[in-house]
Amino acid sequence: TTEAKSTMENGRILVFVRLRPVAKKEREAGSRCCVRIVNKRDVYLTEFANENDYLRLKRLCGRHFTFDASFPDSTTQQEVYSKTTAGLVEAVLQGRNGSVFCYGATGAGKTYTMLGTTDNPGVMVLAIKDLFSKIQQSSFDENHTVHLSYLEVYNETVRDLLSPGRPLVLREDKQGIVAAGLTQYRACSADEVMALLQQGNLNRTTEPTRANETSSRSHAILQVVVKYQVKGASGNVVNRVGKLSLIDLAGSERAIATDQRTLRSLEGANINRSLLALSSCINALVEGKKHIPYRNSKLTQLLKDSLGGACNTVMIANISPSSLSFGETQNTLHWADRAK
Ligand code: ADP
Ligand code: MG
Repeated sequence: TTEAKSTMENGRILVFVRLRPVAKKEREAGSRCCVRIVNKRDVYLTEFANENDYLRLKRLCGRHFTFDASFPDSTTQQEVYSKTTAGLVEAVLQGRNGSVFCYGATGAGKTYTMLGTTDNPGVMVLAIKDLFSKIQQSSFDENHTVHLSYLEVYNETVRDLLSPGRPLVLREDKQGIVAAGLTQYRACSADEVMALLQQGNLNRTTEPTRANETSSRSHAILQVVVKYQVKGASGNVVNRVGKLSLIDLAGSERAIATDQRTLRSLEGANINRSLLALSSCINALVEGKKHIPYRNSKLTQLLKDSLGGACNTVMIANISPSSLSFGETQNTLHWADRAK
């Protein structure tokens, strides 16, 4: 897509917003819709209920944000994939790295966007499908190998979601920072991947107080590594590697809460460490700083080779339309606005 191509040209972070449909619970609680998306780009956040107020707000340029694209609640998974991630899959097939993040409060639609459901697979599954179909179309498909790893950062501890067990240690070697012993699953087709990822998602750490619910404090990272060989100019064989990282971030509400107050618990501090470190890295990248503080958290260490530099970075900010989530939506939009 044109959007995805523009990142390759100038290294800028592409920022998208996705609005999810109103949930039954929100409707039953009598909440109003407080978000409007206009022209597939502009997002208006309003505390007012009626159209006149909305128009007045628009004129006043109140809480108005513009992104590379904004997806209304009717947007399909395929459309989100095509506009945000398809270009990165092409880049990975040219031996480049890229990353896609879903950011937002718990319940805003991050996991739906990334993983999706069996009937409506999300970006992770659609990217792998697209990758395999592109490899099959290419003339040297027998050259390509695709490896998947799926890991979690929870409380500054790294765990393998494909093979749960002891925490993994991060080591720095010639290739960069790697999680020692992490499962590299050799994928041969897209069909096997949905089940694998759904199983992996069940392995995410659950909140002690909310058994069976996936933790809102866990970051899930899917890394897809494509290796292949091309013929060099003098007939020699050249190895190429491209890596796509797809990240379902922890709920942003905690980051904001503890950012403003004092860091109370160790756990709270650690959750924020990864999210806040990601924010600092993104801000440093956006400001064109030389020093990017990757070392400050496990998440940013793991993504060091996939964020900034010649890499393509895409941010999808997920928001709820409900007035019950007004504050969180406002925080998410401000955060996304700063990542542009
Ligand atoms: P998060 O991962 O941000 O906590 P979820 O992805 O789990 O949020 O979404 C919360 C609920 O809303 C889930 O039941 C999910 O299926 C539903 N949902 C989220 N986004 C959409 C969407 N675009 N279309 C339909 N349902 C959605
Ligand atoms: Mg989730």
